[in-house]
Amino acid sequence: MKIYKAHILYTKEKDCFEVVENGYIAVDDGRVVGVGDSLSSLGCEGSEVTDFGDCMLIPAMNDLHVHAPQYRNQGIAMDLELLPWLENYTFPEEMKYADMGYAERMYRRFVRDLWRFGTMRSCVFATIHTESTRLLMQLFREAGMGALVGKVAMNRNCPDGLSETVEEAVKGNEALIAEFCETDALVRPIVTPRFVPSCTPEMLEACGVLASKYQLPVQSHLSENLSEIALVKELEPESTCYGDVYNRYGLFGQMPTVMAHCIWSQGEELELMKRNGVMVAHCPTSNLNIGSGMAPIRQFLDEGLRVGLGSDISGGHDLNIFRIMVFATQVSKMHYQQYHKAFLTLSEVFWLATKSAGSFFGRVGSFEPGYEFDALVIDDHDLNHSDYSLLHRLERFIYLGDDRHIVHRFCRGREIAEPRV
Ligand SMILES: [Zn+2]
Repeated sequence: MKIYKAHILYTKEKDCFEVVENGYIAVDDGRVVGVGDSLSSLGCEGSEVTDFGDCMLIPAMNDLHVHAPQYRNQGIAMDLELLPWLENYTFPEEMKYADMGYAERMYRRFVRDLWRFGTMRSCVFATIHTESTRLLMQLFREAGMGALVGKVAMNRNCPDGLSETVEEAVKGNEALIAEFCETDALVRPIVTPRFVPSCTPEMLEACGVLASKYQLPVQSHLSENLSEIALVKELEPESTCYGDVYNRYGLFGQMPTVMAHCIWSQGEELELMKRNGVMVAHCPTSNLNIGSGMAPIRQFLDEGLRVGLGSDISGGHDLNIFRIMVFATQVSKMHYQQYHKAFLTLSEVFWLATKSAGSFFGRVGSFEPGYEFDALVIDDHDLNHSDYSLLHRLERFIYLGDDRHIVHRFCRGREIAEPRV
């Protein structure tokens, strides 16, 4: 049993924070046993305590949508919309991941940067390349950080160097599945059809079979951009909506599924997502950068959809999920001006990034008993120069802080050291 002492802040429900000033948290075998305001309230009198003094202890961040091989393109090439952006910037970069030397150089930096910003779990797109995808999974495993990593399936509307046959895709996936097969492992494969325009019906069908045969989660993109939606309609005229294409192939909630963006999802598609428990990865920076639109997150929450936050590097420019919380709030305020729907509150965006997104990885993202201890220790003394309340200190860290304020990181109870680059 380990006991930590700090100011403890987390969200059980989206509408309010749990705040325990000078609190104690007991952790056993990687999981939270309890949170209390004294050792006796936890039944732990006389136990040894690791005291973090005036620091804040909060759940670690979860990134529900990020492309590791777009690391180089972070913060550049923001002048095009989705389809020409993929063709001109993204696909040429992803082709480089056939080169293991290049992949190692970039992937090491990528994992290190996730660590810097306190993201201990992520849903990651790699590329079609099995070898460099394996390397990325090994790097996460070495670091001790949780990740669902997808070897990307794509075989149409893409350059030759970024396309493979259905047979090759299945073979490569099965090799990774065999190697990373423990069901409770921190690093696991996730079935990853890039999106409908990139995958023939045969490829989508093979992905659905992989997910069901090996009981694996699924990730992809959905209703991000209007030209993309028109293209899907043209390619799959029999389907009643974009989401219906995935649904036909068992890729829409038959196994745990996260779909990035969903900006333009409505009607039947939303109903299907609700019924099947499909989770939305909301990526506000990406949606702004490549001009895709504003996802109606308030409406999604009101309707009971599951939502988390994603950085979507390199459509998004920032890996720091705290900053994504700020953008999510700001986008919801633009929405509020247009549609008069209440904007997102601080506790709501915090809950989206922690407990709600964490639910895709298991019991992750809260400090309730039984939750895995994924946590960050925040030393904000240089931001705390007045009589701020603990909630205002957290808010200032979210808006003004950066990785220098994160002084300890834990994943599943283990302190995570800086990964070597
Ligand atoms: Zn994406």
